Amino acid sequence: MVRDRLGRELRELRVSVTDRCNFRCFFCMPPDREIPFLSREDLLSYEEIRDLVKILRNAGVRKVRITGGEPLMRLHLENLIAQLSPLVEDLALTTNGYLLPEKAEHLRRAGLGRITISLTTLKAERLRAIAGRDVSLGTVIAGIEAAHEAGFSPVKINTVVVRGVNDDEILNIAEFCRERNLVLRFIEYMDAGTLNNWSMEKVVSAEEILSTLRRRYDLEELGRTSGSETALRFRYRDTGQEVGVIASVTKPFCRGCSRLRLSADGKLFPCLFSDRGIDVRSLLRGNMDGKDILRIIEGFWKQREDRYSELRRDLMGVRGSRVEMFRVGG
Ligand code: SAM
Ligand code: SF4
Ligand code: SF4
Repeated sequence: MVRDRLGRELRELRVSVTDRCNFRCFFCMPPDREIPFLSREDLLSYEEIRDLVKILRNAGVRKVRITGGEPLMRLHLENLIAQLSPLVEDLALTTNGYLLPEKAEHLRRAGLGRITISLTTLKAERLRAIAGRDVSLGTVIAGIEAAHEAGFSPVKINTVVVRGVNDDEILNIAEFCRERNLVLRFIEYMDAGTLNNWSMEKVVSAEEILSTLRRRYDLEELGRTSGSETALRFRYRDTGQEVGVIASVTKPFCRGCSRLRLSADGKLFPCLFSDRGIDVRSLLRGNMDGKDILRIIEGFWKQREDRYSELRRDLMGVRGSRVEMFRVGG
């Protein structure tokens, strides 16, 4: 077990397998911005990702979440899942759901444990506006159904709430998830990356989201399951189903942040808001011994003192450069 300067253990790895996406959500990868995507040779191969996960297991990593960009855009992702599932206790994926109708079954069979699908709206026209592409809401919903049919249980839903965009849908999305037994997480809009023109006024706080929910539902607080749990969790008293809010902006959880993030081109970042990562791709491709790579990563973790969200007010103007979210995954 290795601890950073704030006493946090390394437990989890987020792996971005591609920086590409079939959506261009304005809060992540705005359609009007020119984005220099990685080329194929830049990407870590599935075998390189597997080798790194093997190394990180020795540093304490037990959970891996695969993300992106849109992870299902990467060909044969099930081959990576099959290589990682024997290595970790918890293997999860975050996706916009668009390719799930054709892929959910393969992912489940390859050993994927958990799935989270992002759903920002239940209005077809609004989805096209948010995603910046001519995409169909029906396909996202079919993706959610395909995840259920493939046997993922529970299926989780992520909903980023942005003021003036989808904050009028909090109750509708909650009801949609209750009817289908989906575990919903509302997410406060974050100043992730440098492209989204974020401002505090566009953030709908966890408190506001909860008071909207409480207008219709009786909620009982469940608290966080572990120190590294990101959501404030609640239970609907009538059905017993779970709903949560990820209050990254108004109630940051840096104190329990046990995550490293791997970009698709093989850089390890200690925080979503970092501007520097270590280049593990060149270590892996330089045939460095696994033990030496482990020592370098442990040394990197021991130096870690990132807690951007707790310091947001002070750092907002100062930290001009930072990695984009679609490079290190949300
Ligand atoms: N493409 C996949 C998806 O959308 O689920 C995976 C990658 S995406 C970067 C991961 C999560 O980050 C999604 O649930 C997305 O809604 C969320 N996200 C993106 N930009 C965000 C922002 N500025 N603030 C909060 N959450 C954001
Ligand atoms: Fe793509 Fe996900 Fe970012 Fe939307 S949030 S642009 S779906 S990576
Ligand atoms: Fe972790 Fe950085 Fe987010 Fe804080 S701001 S929870 S340290 S990723």
